[in-house]
Amino acid sequence: MTIKRVAVIGAGISGLTAAYRLDTYARQGDVEVHVFEARPRAGGVMVTDTQHGAILEGGPDGFEHSKPEAEALCRELGLGDQLVEVDEAAVGAYVYHRRRLHPMPRGVVAGVPTELAALVNSHWLSPAARLRVLLDVVLPRRRDTGDHALGKFLGRRFGRQWMTLVAEPSLCARYGGLADESSSAAVVPQLLEVEHRYRSLILGCRALKRTGAATVEGEGALTLEGGLGQLVDAVDSALKQTLVHLAMPVAEIGKADEQGSQGYRLNFAHGASLNCDAILLAVPAHVAADLLRPVALEASSMLAAIEYTSLAVVAAIYDPKAIPIRLDRAGFYVPRGEGLKMTACTWMSPLWRQPSPGGVPLRLFFGRSQDGEDVTAWSDETFQEVVERELRLTMGIRQPPVYSRIFRWPKAVPQYRVGHPEHVWALRQALDRVPGVFGAGSIFQGWSVADCIRQSDQAAEAVRAYLGVKAD
Ligand SMILES: Cc1cc2nc3c(=O)[nH]c(=O)nc-3n(C[C@H](O)[C@H](O)[C@H](O)COP(=O)(O)OP(=O)(O)OC[C@H]3O[C@@H](n4cnc5c(N)ncnc54)[C@H](O)[C@@H]3O)c2cc1C
Repeated sequence: MTIKRVAVIGAGISGLTAAYRLDTYARQGDVEVHVFEARPRAGGVMVTDTQHGAILEGGPDGFEHSKPEAEALCRELGLGDQLVEVDEAAVGAYVYHRRRLHPMPRGVVAGVPTELAALVNSHWLSPAARLRVLLDVVLPRRRDTGDHALGKFLGRRFGRQWMTLVAEPSLCARYGGLADESSSAAVVPQLLEVEHRYRSLILGCRALKRTGAATVEGEGALTLEGGLGQLVDAVDSALKQTLVHLAMPVAEIGKADEQGSQGYRLNFAHGASLNCDAILLAVPAHVAADLLRPVALEASSMLAAIEYTSLAVVAAIYDPKAIPIRLDRAGFYVPRGEGLKMTACTWMSPLWRQPSPGGVPLRLFFGRSQDGEDVTAWSDETFQEVVERELRLTMGIRQPPVYSRIFRWPKAVPQYRVGHPEHVWALRQALDRVPGVFGAGSIFQGWSVADCIRQSDQAAEAVRAYLGVKAD
């Protein structure tokens, strides 16, 4: 049997996970696996920096509880004893509104309030807004079950103030999304099911919470003691037969040179090329669109239609004496319209109970899809000025940080616009018409680490089946 060659393009967590699954077959001698990564390091947006004894995450900082794939992969790789669960006492956040931090009502599940006393006692929301939220209990279910904008779907059930000050920030801040443009079917598919089954989202989520089928945002989340960079290192070291080529951007995909071959030729930005039998794309949709254009115009155009937002994270360490407020929650959100550039701030040490002898680590998020401003183009000085001003306004910090680092992620996060599930369905059909080309990553169904791992497992399995390699 001739050995088949697979090229995985992109060494973020998606590409690495797919390569790890395919490595089993490389060890059996059935396939040859190569990973090509544009950057000089693997991990993509998953990157950890340790400074002054504190863990600073540049991208994701944890895995959600409701999706088990990330935890399962950590355990499989021998990282089980490194898993750290979120401190339940720190679950929940504040909301920056009218120049003050207000406690978000406890018990919010995917933007839905489930603890009514906490809602009623949230006096920073107007009485009319709180009453409007409670209207959900008597409102009928939607008759039209098509995909609606998240803003429209949740706005109809809970009113505009709840939507803008609580639901949108907690559901969209981290991916730079805008509720009025995001697909409810892609971002909160579970809530569509709840409405269908229970009519009222509040009553439905309360019932599911009682049985453990729904959890409050952040509850049960996990991270790794040394940061998520540990996962990248562990997957990388588990690749026994796979070759990971760093600083090797793929520039274009063409048809293989050999006559009658079903395969492809990868052309690298540095000039070399390589033939392969199957390709697994684990890069952002706009990159995949450019690479595929010469061989799959239809799939390429569909990939190009998926919009991306640029994000930046500033991870900074502050002297505890410089922080005049009590850090007793996970951090705070900044709804749009409050006059700040930052969208959220995470207080790392209470959240993960991480010891940080050298100071208190904070993570500030920047980038919103509607702002039309690319935050990754800001200079270091601009970030410094904005961070200084906004931490003074929100937390009363008046001292510079002990250490800070800016992580810029240009066009890094896909926006699931209304109609995304149908678009993805059609995209998958288009990719199915391109033999030997497969896709993984946050382009499709879910952008969390766990979603990416699940989709990479499926994509690796599809590659195995396509190449006719016996399952192990
Ligand atoms: C700031 C931020 C915070 C987040 N927080 C969380 C969180 O707390 N929890 C959670 O579950 N998820 C979180 N996410 C989402 C999650 O981290 C990502 O969806 C996931 O890590 C994406 O992994 P990926 O491998 O699909 O893509 P990426 O990590 O983007 O990797 C793609 C790789 O492809 C490479 N590449 C690009 N072009 C080429 C080319 N031409 N040739 C070769 N290689 C190329 C890139 O260099 C990159 O390494 C966060 C994301 C961001 C950006």
